[in-house]
Amino acid sequence: MSETLENLSSETRQFPPPADLAAAANVKAEAYAEATSDRLAYWERQAERLSWAKPWDQVLDWSNPPFAKWFVGGRLNVAYNCVDRHVEAGHGDRVAIHWEGEPGDTRTVTYAELLKLVSQAANTLTELGVVAGDRVAIYLPMIPEAAVAMLACARIGATHSVVFGGFSVDALATRIQDADAKVVITADGGYRRGKPSALKPTVDEAVARCASIEHVLVVRRTGEEVAWTEKDKWWHETVEQAAAEHVAQPFDAEQPLFILYTSGTTGKPKGILHTTGGYLTQTSYTHNAVFDLKPESDVYWCTADIGWVTGHSYIVYGPLSNGATQVMYEGTPDTPDRGRFWQIVDKYKVSILYTAPTLIRTMMKWGDDIPAKYDLSSLRVLGSVGEPINPEAWMWYRENVGRERTPIVDTWWQTETGAVMISPLPGVTATKPGSAMTPLPGISADVVDDTATPVPNGGGGFLVLTEPWPSMLRTIWGDDQRFLDTYWSRFGAGAGSGDKWIYFAGDGAKKDEDGALWLLGRVDDVMLVSGHNISTTEVESALVSHPAVAEAAVVGATDPTTGQAIVAFTIPRGNVATEGEAGEELIKELRNHVAKTLGPIAKPRQIMLVPELPKTRSGKIMRRLLRDVAENRSLGDVTTLQDSAVMDLISSGLQTGK
Ligand code: ATP
Ligand code: MG
Repeated sequence: MSETLENLSSETRQFPPPADLAAAANVKAEAYAEATSDRLAYWERQAERLSWAKPWDQVLDWSNPPFAKWFVGGRLNVAYNCVDRHVEAGHGDRVAIHWEGEPGDTRTVTYAELLKLVSQAANTLTELGVVAGDRVAIYLPMIPEAAVAMLACARIGATHSVVFGGFSVDALATRIQDADAKVVITADGGYRRGKPSALKPTVDEAVARCASIEHVLVVRRTGEEVAWTEKDKWWHETVEQAAAEHVAQPFDAEQPLFILYTSGTTGKPKGILHTTGGYLTQTSYTHNAVFDLKPESDVYWCTADIGWVTGHSYIVYGPLSNGATQVMYEGTPDTPDRGRFWQIVDKYKVSILYTAPTLIRTMMKWGDDIPAKYDLSSLRVLGSVGEPINPEAWMWYRENVGRERTPIVDTWWQTETGAVMISPLPGVTATKPGSAMTPLPGISADVVDDTATPVPNGGGGFLVLTEPWPSMLRTIWGDDQRFLDTYWSRFGAGAGSGDKWIYFAGDGAKKDEDGALWLLGRVDDVMLVSGHNISTTEVESALVSHPAVAEAAVVGATDPTTGQAIVAFTIPRGNVATEGEAGEELIKELRNHVAKTLGPIAKPRQIMLVPELPKTRSGKIMRRLLRDVAENRSLGDVTTLQDSAVMDLISSGLQTGK
C-alpha cells in the first residue's frame, strides 16, 4: 500500500497575467520548452548573465552524487558581479539601497558608494588576517552594513555565516563554534519597536565562549554605550578609514560563499553550505524571471531579514547582481503605527513587493482600512514566501494591496535550494490563489508516493526534486552524513528509485486536475485521521476562509478512536467577540464550517481560540510545539521560538476552557 495525501479542497478562481505585463515580460512561455529540450544548455545561458573571469569547462559534474559541482573550472568574483560591473557599465549613480531606519532616519546608497564601502570592508578584513576560505560571523540589524559585510566576505573569498540579530547568546555561540569563525561583525544595536535594542552584550557573552574569534568589528548604529574588549574595533575607525580601492580576485565556481542555518521549524537547525557560481546564477536568474525586474525603472522591496535565506538571495545576491534599486527597512511593521509598510511603499514608489504569509495574515487581522489609506498604485508584482499562503490570505493580498491589478507570485523554496524553485511567472502564468503553480524553467520537481512513483493529477504525496539545480546546497557544513540522511536517503539511489538521486524536500504537496502544485505543509505535520492522511494546511486554510478568523494552526493529537484527531488553534480577527457564550458559539460554527468546506473527515475535534501562535523568528508557525501542548507533553527545542511567553499564554488558556 502506498501512502498519499487526501485532496480535500478545490479552488476554481484563476487570474491571468495583465496583458501589458505579459507583453513586456522578461521571461515568456517559450522558456519552459527551451529548458525542457536541453536543461543544462538552458542553465549555461542563464550563467551568461554573470561576468566570468574564466568560463567553465563543464556545466555540471554529477559523477559523485549527491555532491554536485556546477560550472566546473569557471572562475568569478561574486562581489564584482553584484557591484563593480554595474559601476563599470555607467550605473554608478543608480541607487542600490534606499535605507529606511525604524526611527525614520534614511540613507541612500548608490552603486558607486556601495563599491567604495565593500572595497573598504574587504581591505579591513584582509588587514585583520581574514583570507579566502576563513569564516566570518555576521550579527547585525537591517542596516546597509549587513549587505556590505556579506559582499566584503564574498569579495575576498571568505565564507560568511549570518546569524539573525534577534538570536540569543546560545544560538550565536553555537553557530560561531560550528563554523569555527575568526571574526564577528556586529553593531552596538538596532531599533526595534521604537527603541534601541542592544546586540553587543550578546556578542560579548558569545565571544567569551568562542576561542576561535580573533576580532570583533562593531558598527555604531544606536550610539548607546557598550562594553569594550581588546578584540573589538569600531567599523567607523577601521572600515571607513581604509583605502577605497580593492581589486577583486576571481575564485573557483565552487568556492564556498556562505553557511546559513535553517529556521528550525522542524527541529535542530542545519548549517546549509552554498557555493558561488551556481548559486549566483540561479539567484540572479530567478530574481529577474519571477519578479520581472526592470533595473532601470523598478523599485524592489523584500521585507525579509538578512538573517534568513530570503534576505541572502533576494536582498543581497539576486537583486544586486541584477543592478536593482531596492528598499531596505530596519524595523517592525507596526512602528510607529500599523501603516508603516504601506507608508514605505507609497514613499519610495515600490513596484515589486516580496513578503511572507505571516505578515499578510497579520495585516488582515489589523484591518482593510489601513492599506486603504495609502497610494499603492506603484505596485506591479507581489510575491509571497515562507509558508503555504492560504487562499483567503492570497485574495486579501490581491484585493487590498494589489488592488486587483497585480499578479501574485507564490514562491516555494528552502534554505537548501538557495533560490526559488516553484513559482508562477508573472507574465505567463494564470495563477490560482494558494498555489505555487509549476516548477520554474530549468527545475524538475514532482509529487510522489512512498514508492517514489509520481502521483497522478488530483493526487497528493511528497514533494521531490528529481534533477540537480545550480543553487542546490552542497552539503550540511561538517556533516556529509546528515546531508545524505536528511535529503537523499528517503528516495535516493538504492532506496526504491533505481540509480536516480531524488531530493526529498520534507514537504507534502498535491497536483490539482491541471497539474498545478499545492504545497500542503511539512510531511512531519501530516495528520492520520481514521486512516486518512490529511494536511494541516488545508484545514488551516478552511478556517482562515471564515470571516471571523485571522490565523489558524492545526495539529494531529493522539486519539483513542481515530488514531489522531484534529486540534486547531485559532486567532480571531480583531473585531470578533469571543467571551463566554459568544466564544462557544464561534467554536461550534467554525467546526461546522470546516466540515462543510472540506468534508466531515476534516472536522476538528477541538478548536482553541488563542491570542497568538508560536512562531520561529522568521515567522513560521511551529506546529510541533502545539502538538506537545495538545498531547500534554513538555515542550521540545524552543531556541528558535520568537516569543517564549506565547506558549505560556496558550497553555494557560487551555486549562480554563476549550
Ligand atoms: P527547518 O528545516 O530547520 O525545520 P525551515 O524548513 O522552516 O526550518 P527554511 O529553509 O527557512 O527553514 O524554510 C523552508 C520551508 O518553508 C519549506 O520546506 C516549506 O515548508 C516552507 N515554504 C517556503 N516557501 C513556501 C511556499 N511558498 N509555500 C509553501 N511552503 C513554503
Ligand atoms: Mg526545512
